[in-house]
Amino acid sequence: MIFCDHASREIPAELHDLGLPASELARHIAWDIGAAGVAEALADIFDAPAILSPVSRLVVDCNRQLNAPDLIPERSDGTAIPGNLNLTPEDRALRVERWFEPYHAAVESIFLERERRGIASIALSIHSMTNNMAGNHRPWQISFSSHDDRRLVEPMIEILRRSNDIEVGDNQPYSMDPAVDFSTPFHAVRRNLPYLQVEFRQDEVADAAGQLRWAQRFARALTEAVSTGEAVQ
Ligand SMILES: [Zn+2]
Repeated sequence: MIFCDHASREIPAELHDLGLPASELARHIAWDIGAAGVAEALADIFDAPAILSPVSRLVVDCNRQLNAPDLIPERSDGTAIPGNLNLTPEDRALRVERWFEPYHAAVESIFLERERRGIASIALSIHSMTNNMAGNHRPWQISFSSHDDRRLVEPMIEILRRSNDIEVGDNQPYSMDPAVDFSTPFHAVRRNLPYLQVEFRQDEVADAAGQLRWAQRFARALTEAVSTGEAVQ
């Protein structure tokens, strides 16, 4: 089961681009560039369900706990978000109701249906990361964010590092924090499902060819990492 919290850069029309120019809305602050294509390619390869958030994380960040200060960010990577300033509690509640809850309800409904039918699931949380943050180049082409349960992430990292041709981040640049991250803790950790929360570097997955290449490499490694013989869905 695949979910992609930051798949889209869409800003609903009534939010008037959150007061940002198109140049800002094309940047990584609005979405995870390339992540939707990787998620869709993985869904094809594994014939697995995938749910992609249809709005920008600047509208509401679907991977934040509801009490996180950056659930509706006022700034992101140096850019102020005018349309997110001075929101009332009602404004905030409406964002959650309209764009956070339906996305997570869709993900939840798939997990519930699979549980009901007795189908084992692996949770894949697909993200991408910018190659430069605050002037620092990121050396990792792919990174995994994990917490206590590392049953899938450890074999994945070992397999991907074996060929010595890429840098693989292990809780770098991001770890997973159940007090801050929402999607993987809520949908996977709560169910004790094996999970991978992965960041592909954006320059690697900027076009369809790169998205497919990385989805295929990731899928080969995951197939090997899942040694129990259960289907990867
Ligand atoms: Zn993301």
